[in-house]
Amino acid sequence: MIIQLENKISAERLEKIKNQVSKMGFDHNLVTTQFANYLVGIGKKEIDLRTIGSLEGIEDIHRVSDQFKLVSSKWKLNQTAVDLGNGIQIGNGHFGIMAGPCSIESEEQVIHTIDHLKKNNIQIMRGGVYKPRSSPYSFRGLGLEGLKMFYKHCSANGIKIITEVMQVSQIDEMIKYVDIFQVGARNSQNFNLLDALGKVDKPVMLKRGIAGTIDELLQAAEYIFSNGNEKILLCERGIRTFEKAYRNTLDLNAVAILKDKSHLPVIVDSSHGIGIRKYIEPMTLAGVMTGADGIIIEVHEEPEKAISDGQQSLNYEEADLLYKNVRTILQVKRQLN
Ligand code: PEP
Ligand code: MN
Repeated sequence: MIIQLENKISAERLEKIKNQVSKMGFDHNLVTTQFANYLVGIGKKEIDLRTIGSLEGIEDIHRVSDQFKLVSSKWKLNQTAVDLGNGIQIGNGHFGIMAGPCSIESEEQVIHTIDHLKKNNIQIMRGGVYKPRSSPYSFRGLGLEGLKMFYKHCSANGIKIITEVMQVSQIDEMIKYVDIFQVGARNSQNFNLLDALGKVDKPVMLKRGIAGTIDELLQAAEYIFSNGNEKILLCERGIRTFEKAYRNTLDLNAVAILKDKSHLPVIVDSSHGIGIRKYIEPMTLAGVMTGADGIIIEVHEEPEKAISDGQQSLNYEEADLLYKNVRTILQVKRQLN
């Protein structure tokens, strides 16, 4: 059960509502986000909403019996749009394109990528400075100094930054320079990190775990929301299956299901999802057709020389074509409606 409370609810009214919820046999959890107050009732009993709906201080009340509640579409019919500022939004009809290298490698690379993005009217650049790598001997990223350099160029050009945060202690030092915190597949169920990201007022893109179910992804998102941050993007980036012909299995079924089960925007990452350069474009277009609210793409000026994920990075010409075709598909989709 989710009870939406009036914004500046008095302690007295809140107490009465909590008492009634307890009487009904439910545990409760007060959630205060940047936008609203909710009392989440946890329990399995059948309830008659009339026994509580008339109390003062309640704006709305909804039955939600799933494990994930605040991220569920069962209480919020409208899709969420995540606002990045400067008129940039993702979700609820606003499509987001995020592109850039797997890792931030050099200042020259940042400058050239920004140029490429601006030519394509793209306002969000991706690039890792803290890189989760399978081998401890691989390049681990340029760290905070790299992020500052990345930020210097992006902010001068009106470009937003999405970059991965790997641990709680990095949040504070990164926050001034980041527009969207990315939680990587390997950290998808790092509940301490999710708790901490729930306490900041910054959008978070949460990737699905390498072997994570849809329900686990939604419950991970619930950690962020229930700690106070409603600005969440879900990301399908492929899961590990028995198939060895490609890096991961991009699960477009999940995009359709997530769009139905949750009000949060869904992003498709076909770069990691299939991991083979020549299939990135068709899989991205399929993701858009499936209902994605945005895409994230790895792009490199010279993919053959990329320090990480070159095999799945598009060069600038390939990326130009992808953006153009994504925009065409979006137009076609509008006609289909
Ligand atoms: C990335 O975005 O470069 C990355 C490491 O992604 P994932 O966590 O999905 O593997
Ligand atoms: Mn990568």
